[in-house]
Amino acid sequence: MKYKWWVVISLVALLLMVWRSIGDSKVKVVFCDVGQGDGALIISGSFQMLIDTGGNNQRMLSCLSRHLPFWDKNIETVVLSHWDIDHSGGLPDISRYYKIEKLYSNRLPPAGDEQKFYPTIIGENDIIRYGGIDFEILSKNVDDGDSNENSLVGVLRYKDLPSGRQVKILMMGDAPMEVEQSLVWQEKLKSLSNEVDILKISHHGSDMATSEELLDEVNPKEAVISVGKNNKFGHPGKVVLKRLEERGIKIKRTDNMGDVTVTY
Ligand SMILES: [Zn+2]
Repeated sequence: MKYKWWVVISLVALLLMVWRSIGDSKVKVVFCDVGQGDGALIISGSFQMLIDTGGNNQRMLSCLSRHLPFWDKNIETVVLSHWDIDHSGGLPDISRYYKIEKLYSNRLPPAGDEQKFYPTIIGENDIIRYGGIDFEILSKNVDDGDSNENSLVGVLRYKDLPSGRQVKILMMGDAPMEVEQSLVWQEKLKSLSNEVDILKISHHGSDMATSEELLDEVNPKEAVISVGKNNKFGHPGKVVLKRLEERGIKIKRTDNMGDVTVTY
């Protein structure tokens, strides 16, 4: 008899957990602590989107297990800003444990991986939409140039509940200064001026990006730097940190804070 009650209580508890995860549509964005790399997780109820997957070190998987309910093994959307290993290296492991419904990227995988992954190629003006969340690509497709130059830059928008205010997060991928120089002249980027809540700093805080022009145009409230502790590249650069500090932009770093979670 006692055993029966335990079954009933466990079932009710499980149902409550499922109901909470489906019913709670407040959006949560996590910049996962993936070490040296990028991996962001966006959650809205039972919908999940990843923007980059970290490197080949299972750290994105650990982040998913920390923030997703154990029964949810479906990731609706994965966007890879580009195929550099510190952004795409987590994909094989993630696809082993989760079903990925849609994969988007700036181009086809490098040779050797084209049999495993079939991304839909996206570029400037494409919008990935789910419910109240959208991710719009701002960067142009460049045919030549190195992979960072081709990195997708996009703005993530969603409604904060219950306030109804629209949150805007500018995801810079690994885009270098040359890309920023062309972005700052775009009407779409200009329309984000003073509107961006969080700037996901490009290229782990490298001095080759996050120009004064970009910061002055966007004027974000906060900056998130996804970067590994004591990495060999010297990221984030002192110059970038100084530019952010001078402008009073609050800095959050995954190497100091672990996962950086946004719920507003
Ligand atoms: Zn990178």
